[in-house]
Amino acid sequence: MQYISTRGVAPSLGFADVVLEGLATDGGLYVPQSWPSLGTHRPSAYAQLAANVMQSFVEPDFDNKTLLELCEQAYSSFGEPQVVPLVEIEPNHYLLELFHGPTLAFKDIALQLLGLFFDSILSARGEHITVVAATSGDTGSAAIDGVSKCKNVDMVILYPHGRVSDVQRRQMTTVQSPNVHAIAIDGTFDDCQDLVKAMFNDTVFRNTHRLAAVNSINWARVMAQIVYYVSASDHFAKPIDVTVPTGNFGNVLSGWIAKQMGTPLHHLVVASNSNDILTRFFENQTMTVTGVTPSLSPSMDIQVSSNFERLLFEMNDRDGAQTAQQLQRFRELGTFAVEPDQYAQWIAPNFRAGRCDDAQTLATINDVYASSGILIDPHTAVGVHVARQHINPDIPMVTLATAHPAKFPDAVEQATGVRPQLPEHLADLFERPERTQLLPLDLQVVQKFVASVAH
Ligand SMILES: *Cc1c(COP(=O)(O)O)cnc(C)c1O
Repeated sequence: MQYISTRGVAPSLGFADVVLEGLATDGGLYVPQSWPSLGTHRPSAYAQLAANVMQSFVEPDFDNKTLLELCEQAYSSFGEPQVVPLVEIEPNHYLLELFHGPTLAFKDIALQLLGLFFDSILSARGEHITVVAATSGDTGSAAIDGVSKCKNVDMVILYPHGRVSDVQRRQMTTVQSPNVHAIAIDGTFDDCQDLVKAMFNDTVFRNTHRLAAVNSINWARVMAQIVYYVSASDHFAKPIDVTVPTGNFGNVLSGWIAKQMGTPLHHLVVASNSNDILTRFFENQTMTVTGVTPSLSPSMDIQVSSNFERLLFEMNDRDGAQTAQQLQRFRELGTFAVEPDQYAQWIAPNFRAGRCDDAQTLATINDVYASSGILIDPHTAVGVHVARQHINPDIPMVTLATAHPAKFPDAVEQATGVRPQLPEHLADLFERPERTQLLPLDLQVVQKFVASVAH
C-alpha cells in the first residue's frame, strides 16, 4: 500500500514511513492510495480481526504473522477478554465499550498498537524519534502508556497547567520512565497545540530531533480504529447506525473508512458538545470557526477538527491542490462551504449530527444510571443523548463509549451522587509520586527543553 498526501505535493510513502512521518511535508495528511475491501471470512477474536482488517494497509512492511503478533500484544493489556464489549442500555440501543485499555479512554486502542509499530520499525532501522504532542488529557496519558516502553523514543507531552483532571494529570506524571517528560505549560490546550505545530513547522528543528506525531493526524491511529466498527457490525445480521462522540473527527473518520471498505453501516451520527463546529457543518454545509468554551466533556472541546481534511480530500475527488486552497481560505477567513452536489454525494448518505450541552450531559448520565444501573462518562453521555434523537426502530443503534466513568468522576458524581471507582490497576494512582515541570508559554524555552532531552 502506498500513501498520498491530502495536499497533493508531498511524495507518496509506504506504511512504515507514514507512521514515522505523521504530518506530510506539504502540511497535508496521509491517506491510502485506494480503499481496500474487507474479506468475507472474519475472525471473531479481536486481535485476529484487527490483523485481518488492517493487513492490506501495512503491506509490505508488515506480514500477517508479525501484524498478528503486534495486535495480540497490544490488546493483551485490556481488562476485558472481548477488548470492546457490546452492552445493551435500552431497547435497540447499545454501548460499544472502548475504554477497557490501560488509561481508560478509547485512544488506548490505537496508541497501544502505535507504540509497537514505532518500536518494530525503529529497531529494524536502528533509528530514533522524539515524540512531541499536546494534550487536553486523554491523548497524553494513552500515548505515554503506549509509547513509553519503546527503546528508541523520547517523549515530551505538553498539557495545559491546571486544566486537566487530577486523574488525567496523574496518569501522565506518575510514569517514571526516564524517556517520558510530561510538561505543564502556563497556557491553554490551544497554546500547547500551537507550540507543537510551531516545532513541526521549524524544519531544521523537526529534522534534527526527528520529531514524530502521536495525535490523530497519524494514519496508524485512524487505521487501528477502523477495526472496532467492523467488530460492532459483526454482532448484527443487518446494517447498524453508530453514534460517535466527536472532537477532532478522527474516530468518525475511521467509521467512514470502515463503511468504504464494505462494513454495513447505515449512518454515522456525529455527536458534539456545545463546541459544535461539525454539527453546524452537517446542518448547513458551512464550516465556521467560533471560540471554544470549556465543557464537561473536555476531550471534545475543539475549535477545528483536523481529521476533517481527509474527508474533504475525498469530497474533492482527491484533488490535493483544491483541498490545499480551500484550507488556506478557511485559515484566512475562518469559514468555507462545500457545494450542494458534494454534500448530496458524500454527506447526506453517510452522516447525521446533533449536539448536547452540559445540562443535557448531566441529565443523560443520571437517566442512564436510573434506568439501567450503568454509569457512563460525560463524553459517552453526549453520544447517548444525540443517538436517542436519531434512533430508528428497525436499525440497531450503537453508541461508542469513549471513556471509563472513573476518568471523569466529578461529573458522574454530580449527575448521579455516585463516585465511580478506578479499576484495580489504577487504584493507587493518588499515592504514586508525580514527576512534572512547569514551563512558560515560550517557544524558545520549550524547544530548548525538547533539545535537552532528545537523544
Ligand atoms: C479524544 C476523545 C474524544 C474525541 O475523539 P476524536 O477522535 O478527536 O473525535 C471523545 N471522547 C474521549 C473520551 C476522548 O478521549
